[in-house]
Amino acid sequence: MAKRKTKTPTLEELKKRAATVLSRLKRAYPKPSTALHHSSPLQLLVATILSAQCTDERVNMVTKELFKTYRTVDEYATTDPGVLEHAIHSTGFYRAKARNIINCCKVLLEKHKGNVPGTMGELIQLPGVGRKTANVVLGNVFGRAEGIVVDTHVKRLAERLRLSTKTDPEKIEQDLIQTIPRKDWIATGNLLIWHGRRVCHARKPKCPECSLNDICPSADIVISLPPPSPSQRKA
Ligand code: SF4
Repeated sequence: MAKRKTKTPTLEELKKRAATVLSRLKRAYPKPSTALHHSSPLQLLVATILSAQCTDERVNMVTKELFKTYRTVDEYATTDPGVLEHAIHSTGFYRAKARNIINCCKVLLEKHKGNVPGTMGELIQLPGVGRKTANVVLGNVFGRAEGIVVDTHVKRLAERLRLSTKTDPEKIEQDLIQTIPRKDWIATGNLLIWHGRRVCHARKPKCPECSLNDICPSADIVISLPPPSPSQRKA
């Protein structure tokens, strides 16, 4: 079945659609927060680095043990890379992730007295930390809205809901920033991620039971894609 043909919406129409989307998702997920388990800025920073190309469930399984072994920035910064790689192996891309965590913690010690900084400018200077990770930490730990988290779920939903026509996460973030008031930036990422995990799956979105199906331009899509690659199995 072909996708619905739609004319290019105006900015005002996009703002209205985004507001409706958020209003309904807030009802569906009253307390949106990151699904990554953590109890400190450092733990969320490490968990978010590990979450690249990996499910939150898998990250939570790994960090449950990891956070018992590594409790401080210094312990990550001085660990044997092979030991850390072994501990995070099942999250995938473990060599790069271990290297990023170790180097990130070295910079935290050298430049931030061992603390996780609370600004976008400082966070994205850390090894392995891009805007997505920075937005997760800023929003969920510091309560600061400096941008909107765009991960694989947000990317997919922004495209299906036609809130953005871009494919680059940073451009999608800029489109969302144009259409969503700043007070909702933190919630937006978490709400779209929850909806992507629960309803709007990558391969088989549950459109008939979706609370957005009357306003979603993709509600009648039938996914007939080739089998998912490992990186697509996040949903
Ligand atoms: S209607 Fe379908 S495609 Fe649109 S947001 Fe809901 S589940 Fe996703």
